[in-house]
Amino acid sequence: MRRSVGLAIGAAAVTGAIAWPAATPAGDGPIAALLVPESAQRAELPPRADGSRALRAARGIAALGPRPAGSAAERRAHARVARAFRRAGLRVAVQPFTVPGHGRSRNVIGTLDAPRRDCLKIAMAHADTTAPGPGANDNASGVGVVMAIAARLRRIAPRCDVWLVATGAEERIFTGQGDHLGALALARRARAREAKRRLRFALSLDEVGRDRPFWLRSPAAAPRPHVERALLRAGRATGVAVSWVRDEGDSMSDHREFELLGLPAAKLGVGAGGEPCRHTACDTADRLDRHSLALAQRLAERALW
Ligand SMILES: [Zn+2]
Repeated sequence: MRRSVGLAIGAAAVTGAIAWPAATPAGDGPIAALLVPESAQRAELPPRADGSRALRAARGIAALGPRPAGSAAERRAHARVARAFRRAGLRVAVQPFTVPGHGRSRNVIGTLDAPRRDCLKIAMAHADTTAPGPGANDNASGVGVVMAIAARLRRIAPRCDVWLVATGAEERIFTGQGDHLGALALARRARAREAKRRLRFALSLDEVGRDRPFWLRSPAAAPRPHVERALLRAGRATGVAVSWVRDEGDSMSDHREFELLGLPAAKLGVGAGGEPCRHTACDTADRLDRHSLALAQRLAERALW
């Protein structure tokens, strides 16, 4: 057990109710909860997201058009995320950094402190694109899910501190850099805040807007208990089909820089079907699937819970 019973009862008393969801084929109902001691001791998650908020947010980001690192459009996307985080009552920090040859980019970080401060979970999504496409699936989809989670994070009442992040300058094909620059800055910030001791996982949501089942990717040699296994368990608990696939060679999303600094991280994203419109003009908002966004949101919320 990682949490005191007293704390869970206290939290339930404050929120006024322990809301059991209806039983579902996913096995996440009352009986499953009783069989899982951790779930039996605390208030349940809010009703499952239907993806409509994530879809609205993703469309809003994609409507800004191509958002290459350092551009005005990338800055506008980050400003939208910052507003959503503030509306959700998160503490917002902007972490600026330089993109050589392209000016400045930033990470927008929304923090919710938990009663216990000895663990931290991060969910992040890159807001930038390559030059040609509106980047709806890559990666307004991930940003939309992060914004939708923000709106529910206080109700989710995570037991660990949570950072929700819209990163910048992920697309190396545009920046010409060896690292995902936003993730590098973010991983260093986390490390300076005791992530070696506290971080359970940093999850990059990248291309979660259409192809399923999702793949969970990481460079680990085998699934780790508090990283891949915890995330896969969150998928099972919420009826989200996902399989872990080891990164061969270089990791291709923001989880890379965390792992390079020795911090546990993974990516949830496109599955075996790939993304044929990646980095092209056909990655448009009409291809986004609300249900796919809902599934990514459910898994992430359960993992953050
Ligand atoms: Zn991407």
